Amino acid sequence: MTENSDYDVIIIGSGAGGGTLAHALAGSGKKILLLERGDFLPRETDNWDPKAVFVDGKYMSKDTWFDRDGKAFQPQVHYFVGGATKLYGAALYRLRPQDFGEIKHVSGISPAWPLSYDDFEPWYSKAEQLYQVRGNGGEDPTEGHRSQPYPWPAVSHEPRIQEIYDDLTAGGYHPFHAPCGIMLNEADRPRSTCIRCTWCDGYPCLVHAKADAEVIAVRPLLDRPNVTLLTGAEVTKLETDGSGRTVTGVVVSRNGEREVYRADIVAVSAGAANSAKILLNSASDAHPHGLANGSDQVGRNYTFHNCKAIVALSKEKNDTVFQKTLGINDFYLPTHDYQWPMGNIQMIGKSNAEAMRGEQPEKTMFAPEWTLSDVAGHAVDFWLTTEDLPVPENRVTTDKDGNIHLAYTSTNDEEADRLYGELKKILNHVGMAAHHVLRKNFYMDMAIPLAGCAHQAGTCRFGADPADSVLDVNCKAHEVDNLYVVDTSFFPSIGAVNPALTAMANALRVADHLQSRLA
Ligand SMILES: Cc1cc2nc3c(=O)[nH]c(=O)nc-3n(C[C@H](O)[C@H](O)[C@H](O)COP(=O)(O)OP(=O)(O)OC[C@H]3O[C@@H](n4cnc5c(N)ncnc54)[C@H](O)[C@@H]3O)c2cc1C
Ligand code: SF4
Repeated sequence: MTENSDYDVIIIGSGAGGGTLAHALAGSGKKILLLERGDFLPRETDNWDPKAVFVDGKYMSKDTWFDRDGKAFQPQVHYFVGGATKLYGAALYRLRPQDFGEIKHVSGISPAWPLSYDDFEPWYSKAEQLYQVRGNGGEDPTEGHRSQPYPWPAVSHEPRIQEIYDDLTAGGYHPFHAPCGIMLNEADRPRSTCIRCTWCDGYPCLVHAKADAEVIAVRPLLDRPNVTLLTGAEVTKLETDGSGRTVTGVVVSRNGEREVYRADIVAVSAGAANSAKILLNSASDAHPHGLANGSDQVGRNYTFHNCKAIVALSKEKNDTVFQKTLGINDFYLPTHDYQWPMGNIQMIGKSNAEAMRGEQPEKTMFAPEWTLSDVAGHAVDFWLTTEDLPVPENRVTTDKDGNIHLAYTSTNDEEADRLYGELKKILNHVGMAAHHVLRKNFYMDMAIPLAGCAHQAGTCRFGADPADSVLDVNCKAHEVDNLYVVDTSFFPSIGAVNPALTAMANALRVADHLQSRLA
């Protein structure tokens, strides 16, 4: 067993939360240890091979989790330096101002955050600068105010998507350019890092042009003498002193050995399910139900969005290469004829025949004369997101062997179905018949929906009251003086836009607090 006690801050997990936190703290000169269970994602042609990525699941963890009935499944999680951002679609949205307040939904209440949009706004701006977000402020009527413009202009629509944009605008909708973290320089394509390819959403970027947490946050730190990154370092447990108020040891399994590291501050950022797992598996006499779990809130209120991926087929060919450029928030808030919020509509990565394989009968049902390549060539692909509610029964627990069990029942299904109905109406405006709309099940390529946990959040929510939250407003555990949780676990509610930018912004906010604390 190795014991090391030489650090000011230990950060567990190098994804959107942990990687960004490390980046923000590195300049302080404090000694930082970044513990990451995965390795660097290899750069290889398989990065851009739909079969390797979607059919074979080459970059998915081999983890086994269990549902509420004890049935095993393979979750869609990715253990690499950079975490889930290595595979993400880089749609970098801010939550809407209303998301920070209480929202009434058909299935219940989405609770208010302890901080407002105005509190988060400066951190969103900083995160957009750091992650080089492309976007056009002011196009989306639901967005909040911004203190800084996007650092780069929005990624342009390709001709087919521009047609859809124009038709939607003519139909009275308010489509906008989706905020996006790809390092595309359209004014100088020969020198652009991003080559604008089709293998982006759900794929690693072979040329490191995606603004992910490895490329943007962690790699630039590797030469710094005050930052140490240990890969293949799975944190299994946190130890405390007898009072339970101070984390005194971070227990790591690395190369088959048990190692223990110590620091003044410990920030857990292992992803919502794994952060809950670490805390629950760290029960002790002082914390008999899991570390920082006196309120019985650790693991509860798990959310991951009520999502649908949709393929719309049209007679026109869709030759779009990079499709994820358009968003629609006309249904994000209640409308004049529906009292509940429905959510966000955006584009996703372009269908391709290889990834569709296995679902051929369903995909060709409405166009039997088409080959799978024809179907993919004519498809326009949408992603619908409805907020799912943080309910206590939707939760992560661990068993006696420390494995993750995930109990989840969907909420707001009526809103999600209504949003799907609105999409079908929209498609009539853009010349795609409603009966040509198919659910696109292969996007996540999962046997059961529970496994599609890309947007997992909410297992250690922050709040003012220790009775119903795990963390205080600085994301410090109420019950432990040197323990922070800085991934999407802190979300009290998830809203209906993609979560990564909020995790990044929050990490910058928490870093600012920690710098004051460590000064
Ligand atoms: C295919 C896909 C597409 C997505 N598209 C988008 C998108 O377009 N826009 C968006 O906003 N979001 C998107 N997301 C979601 C986004 O990537 C996540 O919300 C975000 O990365 C969450 O950040 P995090 O810090 O909570 O967790 P992660 O980024 O997953 O980081 C957690 C890290 O902790 C490590 N870890 C886990 N357990 C341990 C342990 N015990 N010890 C040490 N290390 C550990 C993991 O290996 C990982 O590196 C997508 C996700 C996927 C999978
Ligand atoms: S579109 Fe750009 S950022 Fe995305 S995978 Fe291709 S080269 Fe990388």
